[in-house]
Amino acid sequence: MTGYPGAFSLRGETALITGGGSGIGLAIARAMHAAGARVVLVGRREAELASAARSLGAGASHVAHDITRLDDAPALVSRVTRDAGPVTCLVNNAGIHLKKPAVETTPEEFERLLATHVVGAHALTRAVAPGMMERNHGSILFIGSMASLFGIPLVIAYTAAKSALVGMVRGYATEFSAHGVRVNCIAPGWIETEMSRRALEGDPARKARVLGRTPAARLGSPEDIAWAAVYLASPAARFVTGATLPVDGGASIGF
Ligand code: NDP
Repeated sequence: MTGYPGAFSLRGETALITGGGSGIGLAIARAMHAAGARVVLVGRREAELASAARSLGAGASHVAHDITRLDDAPALVSRVTRDAGPVTCLVNNAGIHLKKPAVETTPEEFERLLATHVVGAHALTRAVAPGMMERNHGSILFIGSMASLFGIPLVIAYTAAKSALVGMVRGYATEFSAHGVRVNCIAPGWIETEMSRRALEGDPARKARVLGRTPAARLGSPEDIAWAAVYLASPAARFVTGATLPVDGGASIGF
């Protein structure tokens, strides 16, 4: 039996974290690094990534890459493999937000959200999964949302994207799990980051509604999500696959 704390250790793992330069992604990178993993932060803004990687120190690096450049996904994975070792953990965290009424959301805006959250994540997933399955070892995490679980006004494209991820996680899990690759999703509640600040600022009624349905009576911190990600990527979760774990202070079960 794997002893404690080894069961929660990520020593020897290499984690590629999209959106790793800020918010939830950076907190996941910090927690995975603390748990012993090498971490590679991926995002579009070079300077932000460089300073985030520097703040983590040895064992952290970064690559500027836009996940909507679908054809570049295999080259990214090859580069990371060369520089940091085979990717054993992929965290599909990168995302963008769009808050506006459904009837004002254009098809182009809708496609842009899907291109990032859904198709971009799939391109990376299919680039890392064969190597993971060959080595019979891997963990792939997706970051969903409360919008994956229930209806929220003014975020129709975001809801479509985040709901798709939950189905994708189940689908990938049925194909990969027998080959040692687990696939799971975290559905964060409302977490204090730049993205949620933009979505809630200037909308005190929405913020009050969020807090009113959250039994823990606070917004979450990025670190709250990060330790759940460490757990799901660790041997402690070795029989957990295809699952969506709400990490939400109870928002999804609040009255
Ligand atoms: P941030 O805006 O801080 O993080 C989003 C990250 O995604 C940025 O680092 C950004 O980096 C990266 N990103 C966006 N588009 C691309 C792209 N095309 N290619 C590569 N990287 C990209 O917000 P959060 O930390 O809050 O969000 C992280 C994830 O958590 C998102 O998927 C979000 O939907 C989800 N989430 C957030 C919640 C919250 O309350 N904050 C609640 C539920 C889910 P760059 O701009 O440099 O590319």
